[in-house]
Amino acid sequence: KLVSKKWKAKPTSVDLGDGVFIKDGEMAIITGPCSIESEEQIRKVVAHCVENGIRMMRGGVFKPRTSPYAFRGMGIDGLKLWHDIASEAGIKIVTEVMQTSQIEEMYPYVDIYQVGARNSQNFNLLDELGKVDKAVMIKRGISGTIEELLQSAEYVFSGGNEKLILCERGIRTYEKASRNTLDLNAIPILKAKSHLPVIVDPSHGIGIRSYVPQMALAGVMSGADGIIYESHEIPEKAYSDGQQTLDFAQSARLVNWIRESFAMR
Ligand code: PEP
Ligand code: MN
Repeated sequence: KLVSKKWKAKPTSVDLGDGVFIKDGEMAIITGPCSIESEEQIRKVVAHCVENGIRMMRGGVFKPRTSPYAFRGMGIDGLKLWHDIASEAGIKIVTEVMQTSQIEEMYPYVDIYQVGARNSQNFNLLDELGKVDKAVMIKRGISGTIEELLQSAEYVFSGGNEKLILCERGIRTYEKASRNTLDLNAIPILKAKSHLPVIVDPSHGIGIRSYVPQMALAGVMSGADGIIYESHEIPEKAYSDGQQTLDFAQSARLVNWIRESFAMR
């Protein structure tokens, strides 16, 4: 496979411009709300990122919701608004693309296209993202194996797009005490098998706010090249995933712990 270390030994470095990278040997930090909700919310999260030296912000404008009646995102107008505010602050945008028809309209406003867990094996979407010259982050499928994640990455990479990032976000197991089971094993295994950077999402991985920091740190010590986690000014009022979202004080504390832990790794 082209994404395997056997084909390319040197770690792939994803360059987002302006000195922002996701790569082996660095600790990328990506935070932001589950959903982009309003101009005010965007401004608050951007300010939180700036205050803490975080260069990449996450947030969904097209949301894959289990219930069709749940909030499904602000759409392309939300992304444009977000882009205006974030680019002024030097913050890169990580957001989910749900279908091929969105790729082009999103293109001017996105820095990393996120392929969500539910779309991890949407092979048409992966094929199309292979033709784009912007970074793509593929999340592991809800019931996806490590091998399947690598095969999904192969679709994009073989299409010509080598700006790829893998993300462990927890898998569905028989365990009901947590939302998902964060598979920390996947991190060293993916790092050993592939030259692509690997990041970890402890928010979806465990799904319980108070346990997100320790799983984030476990991810750092497992060898991840970055962390993506959810934050919001008032998590209890978030339109989605509030139960696993950190407030800004918790987020700021976590960022310091991540940096300290990474320095010790
Ligand atoms: C998200 O990042 O908010 C999200 C929907 O993630 P996942 O696809 O991993 O469930
Ligand atoms: Mn979420």
